[in-house]
Amino acid sequence: MGGPLPDAAADGVAGHHPTGAPVKTVVIVGAGQAGSELAVALRQNGFSDRILLVGAEPHLPYQRPPLSKAFLHGKVDQVALRIRALDAYTNAGIEVELDTAAVGIDRRTRSVALADGRTLRYDKLALTTGGSPRPLRFGSGHVPGRTLHHLDDAIALRQELQSGGTLLIVGGGFIGLETAAAATDMGIAVTLVEAQPRVLARTCPPAVSAFVDREHRNHGVDLRTGVSVRSVARRDGALLAELSDDTVVRADLILTGVGIAPNDTLAATAGLAVDDGVLVDAVARTADPDIVAAGDCTRQWHGFLGRSVRLESVQNATDQARIAARTLCGKPTERFTAPWFWSDQYDHKIQMAGLPQTGDTDVVRGDPSSNSFSVVYLRNGIITGLHAVNRPRDFTAARQLVTARAAMTGDEAASEDLPLSELMKRHQSTAERRA
Ligand SMILES: Cc1cc2nc3c(=O)[nH]c(=O)nc-3n(C[C@H](O)[C@H](O)[C@H](O)COP(=O)(O)OP(=O)(O)OC[C@H]3O[C@@H](n4cnc5c(N)ncnc54)[C@H](O)[C@@H]3O)c2cc1C
Repeated sequence: MGGPLPDAAADGVAGHHPTGAPVKTVVIVGAGQAGSELAVALRQNGFSDRILLVGAEPHLPYQRPPLSKAFLHGKVDQVALRIRALDAYTNAGIEVELDTAAVGIDRRTRSVALADGRTLRYDKLALTTGGSPRPLRFGSGHVPGRTLHHLDDAIALRQELQSGGTLLIVGGGFIGLETAAAATDMGIAVTLVEAQPRVLARTCPPAVSAFVDREHRNHGVDLRTGVSVRSVARRDGALLAELSDDTVVRADLILTGVGIAPNDTLAATAGLAVDDGVLVDAVARTADPDIVAAGDCTRQWHGFLGRSVRLESVQNATDQARIAARTLCGKPTERFTAPWFWSDQYDHKIQMAGLPQTGDTDVVRGDPSSNSFSVVYLRNGIITGLHAVNRPRDFTAARQLVTARAAMTGDEAASEDLPLSELMKRHQSTAERRA
């Protein structure tokens, strides 16, 4: 089993401590995407004792992606965001404690302290605490803006957008751009500033950034790249943001979207190793044999990528939670599939398979000045990733090709006459002949 934790102890017998004592209670701290999945996966893997899912928010675990998309538009309501209905937890015998933050872990007594003064004993503990929006600092203060991470943030933002006005978004990452698209569709005048020379610079190739940039401008977003916020003042009921190019933007509301930091303080305070995320191995184990962690709060050794990464995606949270549940049930199983992610902006779908690295060659497939093209990443004649703009077929095939570490030439990657699904078939028949 690969992993960065040489002292990670092997788990005990299924449903037992390494000491042989039966596992009676699994406490899961963090009732989000990973926490909900982990609880249910424990039952699916045969764990029959007590499961307690503890969440700081007052809501049942919900999907975050629609918060900056369909929910902001008002196309779906709060109930539709729920990952599972209350019955699903009740019927599976999962106790859900909402509006209850965990504030401390005592590993010696195996207990979790709650903000309301109660203490929960655990036999096994799972940390699925997610992340928190990074505060944006300028000078000595913070931009007095909203962030969009929780359902309550989205409810408040939606209400404010419905009453009109102007919006300044700081940060040209996925959340900032998705919010710009939703707000523009709602008739709000949006200015978006991005400190990097292009939007999505951290996650996408230049061709995809250029497409996204163009679409936002076409929809009326005042998009300014290579510019940061220097200061913000409040005057006559409005916010005045002074930018690094000496211009001033007036807005009724400021939203900052400059990434998240993992919620790893609870783990760090309990003496667990953290490094921009709770350190876990390929099967979600921390160095404490009684504690696993999954989702946005972790920095993991990734079985497929063969390196340590911090991933922020629904797919990762779900997969890693299932792995953590199997580990707690004594059936640790690494994953060997490529990570993937998506973003919706206006009517466009951007999908990403794999996690390309610096040094990979990018090959454009199709016409990047159109609404439909892909960028394929290659390293040493192997496909390592793909970014698809309105090309779900390329994306579906690429997920398989990347996972299979299929060979591909630059010409094949660029050839519009050669569907990627065809390359997958060829790869499969070559693999079968060799077997
Ligand atoms: C607006 C938005 C849009 C997104 N869009 C996409 C997308 O299009 N595609 C995609 O793949 N991903 C998207 N993501 C990312 C995706 O939602 C996350 O990667 C995923 O939710 C991570 O799941 P998680 O369980 O690790 O964390 P979360 O879902 O964040 O859940 C963590 C939970 O733990 C709780 N918690 C934290 N500390 C404590 C504590 N001490 N005690 C108790 N509870 C605690 C938190 O309140 C939270 O409810 C988006 C995220 C946001 C915010």
